[in-house]
Amino acid sequence: MISKSFRLNKGTYTQPNIFGYYGNFGGAFIPEMLHRNVEELRENYINIIYDHSFQEEYKSLLKNYVGRPSPLYFAKRISAHYRSKIYLKREDLNHTGAHKINNAIGQVLLANRLGKRRIIAETGAGQHGVATATVCALMGLECVVFMGVKDIERQAPNVARMRMLGATVVPATSGSQTLKDATNEAIRDWINNPDDTHYVIGSVVGPHPYPDMVARFQSIISEEVRQQLFEQTGSELPNLVVACVGGGSNAAGIFYHFLDEPSVELVAVEAAGLGIRSGKSAATTKLGTTGILHGSKSLVMQTEDGQVVEPHSISAGLDYPGIGPMHAHLFESGRAKFLSATDDEALQSALELTRLEGIIPALESAHALAALNQLQLRDDQVLVLCLSGRGDKDLDTYMKTLK
Ligand SMILES: *Cc1c(COP(=O)(O)O)cnc(C)c1O
Repeated sequence: MISKSFRLNKGTYTQPNIFGYYGNFGGAFIPEMLHRNVEELRENYINIIYDHSFQEEYKSLLKNYVGRPSPLYFAKRISAHYRSKIYLKREDLNHTGAHKINNAIGQVLLANRLGKRRIIAETGAGQHGVATATVCALMGLECVVFMGVKDIERQAPNVARMRMLGATVVPATSGSQTLKDATNEAIRDWINNPDDTHYVIGSVVGPHPYPDMVARFQSIISEEVRQQLFEQTGSELPNLVVACVGGGSNAAGIFYHFLDEPSVELVAVEAAGLGIRSGKSAATTKLGTTGILHGSKSLVMQTEDGQVVEPHSISAGLDYPGIGPMHAHLFESGRAKFLSATDDEALQSALELTRLEGIIPALESAHALAALNQLQLRDDQVLVLCLSGRGDKDLDTYMKTLK
């Protein structure tokens, strides 16, 4: 039974209300023709993902296929440099090189339980497309990935990976030929194939229940951190947790089990591109206003008449004109602090981590690292930073820009 007060409540950080709201943000703003698909998910997702046999299969794949738990690594040299105790949560060591696989496995298993044999996804940089294509190969499911024509040109290695994995990559030729057009194509496909198809969204964005569902799949990150930190320091709680935010799924995952611990300071880092006010940035909380993007109400970079502004970041994974509704709520309520890092700051931080620890981070994760320069850290403070992915995919950019 859902009580009246719960029905009307404003949702908590970890749990939106039944309409999918976190405070003033969230909901499900979808065309009538998608109602059935989204409603089927909403009615079933909690029961399915907390079913014992689902959890067994999910956890077993995370362990034996992805390689979880990912290490929590005390980074001694970078700690000395910043006079603090810095722990890196090594999502870069996951199979396929980032945190996205945690969600892809969860959603594809869920689709299986709902009897869907065909998986669709949209992708910008291709990381989410590769994770989804990987899991579809593993499960023997048909996979169709929509991708803007421009992104197909820019991200050739990931397109090749998806095709080798057996996925069909469909070029989105409309509009700016990037992520938002790929999303439109995916939605159109889903409307036309409601019975056999599941749409895998790659971040804590989209209509309810996606943000909550993706946050729950990624929450494995902070579940592990609490245990690992306890084993290494005798306390489950750090002073600070830091993560980069594109849509916000790695941040949601590493924040999740600390959201109700007021002593833990949460720091989200957005991409400032060439500078917040340069006109080439993706710093949504600095520039955005309330609007509807991809099916939910959140903060969106838009013009006064509601046209989405084309974002810019050197890192493809942060090049998104919005943030998920949980993050909009964390920002508005002040529960999390939002910082930003420019392209150049991220590049410098990537080089610094590489030289001090022998770890080449993804450009996205390098934005989180850049926040270390902006925080007043003390040597008795424990900081956990989400190293969301590895830098192999960014080597081209690093070689061109770092001299
Ligand atoms: C996609 C991606 C991100 C950004 O997505 P979030 O949903 O904000 O986590 C961050 N880091 C890496 C390595 C990525 O591939």
